[in-house]
Amino acid sequence: MNRYLKLDPWCIIEEGFNPQNNRASESLFSLGNTYMGQRANFEEQYSGDALLGNYIAGVYYPDPTKVGWWKIGYPDYYAKLVNITNWIGIDIKIADETLDLANCKISKFKRILNMQKGYLTRSFLAKLNNKQVKIDSQRFLSMADKEIAAIKYSITPLNFSGYITCTPYLDSDVRNEHTNYNELFLETINSKTRRGEAYITTETRRTNIHICTGMCFDITKNDKPIKFIPEIINKKKYVANKVKLKCKKGETITVYKYVANITSRDYKQDKLLDICKKILLKAFTKKYDLLFEEHQAIWAKKWQQSDITIEGDIAAQQGIRFNIFQLNQTYSGDDPKLNINPKGFTGEKYGATTQWDSETFCLPYYLSTTNYKIAKNLLLYRYNHLKKAIQNAKNLGFTNGAALYPMATVNGDECQNEWEITFEEIHRNGAIAYAIYNYVRYTNDKSYLINYGLEVLIAISRFWSQRVSFSQIKNKYVMLGVTGPNEYENNINNNWYTNNIACWTIKYTLETINYVKQVAPQKYTKLCKKLHFDEQQEINEWQDILKNMYFPIDKKSGIFLQQEGYLDKQQMLAKDLDQTQRPLNKHWSWDRILRSCFIKQADILQGIFSFADKYDIKTIKKNFDFYEPRTVHESSLSPCIHATIAAWLNYQDKAYELFLRAVRLDLDDYNDEAREGCHITSMAGSWIALVYGFAGMRVEKNMLHFNPIIIPKWQSYSFKILFRENLLAIKITKNKFEINNISNKPITLAILNKQYTIAEKSSKIIAR
Ligand code: BGC
Repeated sequence: MNRYLKLDPWCIIEEGFNPQNNRASESLFSLGNTYMGQRANFEEQYSGDALLGNYIAGVYYPDPTKVGWWKIGYPDYYAKLVNITNWIGIDIKIADETLDLANCKISKFKRILNMQKGYLTRSFLAKLNNKQVKIDSQRFLSMADKEIAAIKYSITPLNFSGYITCTPYLDSDVRNEHTNYNELFLETINSKTRRGEAYITTETRRTNIHICTGMCFDITKNDKPIKFIPEIINKKKYVANKVKLKCKKGETITVYKYVANITSRDYKQDKLLDICKKILLKAFTKKYDLLFEEHQAIWAKKWQQSDITIEGDIAAQQGIRFNIFQLNQTYSGDDPKLNINPKGFTGEKYGATTQWDSETFCLPYYLSTTNYKIAKNLLLYRYNHLKKAIQNAKNLGFTNGAALYPMATVNGDECQNEWEITFEEIHRNGAIAYAIYNYVRYTNDKSYLINYGLEVLIAISRFWSQRVSFSQIKNKYVMLGVTGPNEYENNINNNWYTNNIACWTIKYTLETINYVKQVAPQKYTKLCKKLHFDEQQEINEWQDILKNMYFPIDKKSGIFLQQEGYLDKQQMLAKDLDQTQRPLNKHWSWDRILRSCFIKQADILQGIFSFADKYDIKTIKKNFDFYEPRTVHESSLSPCIHATIAAWLNYQDKAYELFLRAVRLDLDDYNDEAREGCHITSMAGSWIALVYGFAGMRVEKNMLHFNPIIIPKWQSYSFKILFRENLLAIKITKNKFEINNISNKPITLAILNKQYTIAEKSSKIIAR
């Protein structure tokens, strides 16, 4: 854990420059507008350790697989998010010295990420050869004009008068840090510079996506426009305008740099340059302040819907807002071809791929905070990949239209190339089915089942029915050689979670078949034909599996067993580990991890979370009491689920400890990896912990329920929920539950197991 950032309800603040924290800060201060994003690199040169990162959603490179020992079924490539043209650069020279934070004396360094308004500022004093300057920069990636970003960069000489040179530039000589064969992902096609503007067109190798990056700029002195004659620099991968200005002590020179990034994903390739020029001209005409105003207005709307307040706890308040901010920066759901990668635009690890994180962690957040089209697009993404999921299963030896969705994907192809994950971490297939169920129970959009859902469910159930085998010894169906959510166990037999989600999928598929058959018999018949669905035989097989599936349980204690043989392991608790050995994956050999009882992330508890309505509180408690002390939470996806269940059990201290760990995972760098990027998908888990955990929200029998708790430290917490046609504002205080039905429809819901009807546009206060 490393808390070097200041606490503040709306801002992330770093005071003083410590190069050792720079990579982590680059991740934490990242900006994005769901279309493009950027690590918080410096505008001026920096020769110290940094990870330059500028990305556009959906712009990827299929990096050929590199493994030591090739296994049949491995994918051809891993989709990497391409590091595009560096567009923030503004080189600064003071007399003849280049400003570089690694090579000059820095004082009063301050960087602030304003989450409320969505911008980043940086200010510091720099001394070069006894010449001192003050630097102030501000930038944002417009939420209103998604292809536009703007930078305002000011220099004030404090103790001298003389020449200052500003060189705004674009540089396409960039590389990804994570490459398998050290290949370039980006080719430069052409570049152009004129006075005040410059363009570079690049093309991603193999995927052939063209990207046109353009910049234009303006300069003021003491806020007044000035005339300048730049030196034009036009190299193939570097275009710039160099402006040398005479400046008096105390005068402020400000460069306004406007940038546009557009791609052939959205426009015709041969029109990119012209369109880029037009978009840039529009931004330049609007000017910085108006662009900024429009950008802030969108953020205001986003916060209106998704903000969470926590009174009395600034660390939790900052953490939850940081999580919501990052989610809102990463994904808009406008385009069903796009999804959420676990690091968003904040780092390269996990590339451009989507994992089970999207369905299991992100979907609940988007379902409750945005319009349903967005959640539907998350589902359609998988529907559109069904053919490939069937092909993927076929490649692995499955038949009859069985589908195995990939563990990591950008377009439906599997990208993951570790056998214990690619072939074994199959619980992800259940996550896709569960997401359909979750979407339908929240939105009541049952037409989704008829038009898309059932087809996916049948294909996944077919997979499960072939993946189980019948054990003569146990006289039960078993599932061998799997990896559960806890990736610190591989190739295990009968992972309780996987067996559970497999059976649940089959059961839900059977229910959905009955439903569709009833309400849309013709569509059902058509679908059966299309899928060659042998109704009687397949359903019989599925029912037999449901009746005879094996679930490992410890008879003595009654706890569910994470897998067969889990209790044979030497039983130890995470609190007794030598803390210098944490995280284990950075200190222990892999075999030592596999042999130990330590659990990377919620596994049994993930299952209990998903199917909570099946278990009484005693069962939940027994399992939590056993598994939580053995869990090291070295996956970002873990503390949020444990916090949720701890809250259900009213374990207030534990729930709070884990909640804080979830919401501040990156800000306080619990797992010593913030430098690689932020954990965007687990941030939705933080939201789950507060809303499902502390507020005890659940949907049961078409009705919303709340069973809230509040910890002593908090005076109140509040959030908004969209449920079907109702938008609700909820506030929980020490002794009250306040609900405001903002919508035009009444709603009946249960609070602490008692039903209430709240009329449209009215509120109610219920004593707790
Ligand atoms: C977790 C996976 C998760 C992935 C991406 C891994 O560390 O174990 O469950 O899908 O990170 O977030």
